[in-house]
Amino acid sequence: MKTLEQENKQNKKLSIEDKLFLVKNKKDKISHITINKKICKKCQHKACLIVCPAKSYEENHGTIEVAYENCLECGSCRVICTDGAIKWENPRGGFGVRFKNG
Ligand code: SF4
Ligand code: SF4
Repeated sequence: MKTLEQENKQNKKLSIEDKLFLVKNKKDKISHITINKKICKKCQHKACLIVCPAKSYEENHGTIEVAYENCLECGSCRVICTDGAIKWENPRGGFGVRFKNG
């Protein structure tokens, strides 16, 4: 059995993609993220497309869409969206991400 130190050493060698693979996500049928598409239409920076580590936001024919199922619950989109287009709630109990190594 590996010690915590050995596991940490091994984790340092993992790429971001490898680390994301360790995240478990129990998907809910109900989205915990909603966006105001009218506000998004006027948004000049569309920073949500860049900041989300899970690439949850996509622009599709000029419309912003969110794939809440991919969310890692980092909260970055809530901070970067200064126009207030995002309504973000914690996933319901029992749903959402579980981080395997803390
Ligand atoms: S940053 Fe906010 S307002 Fe701009 S496109 Fe993304 S969600 Fe919409
Ligand atoms: S909370 Fe983080 S992972 Fe989830 S949608 Fe926002 S930026 Fe992406």
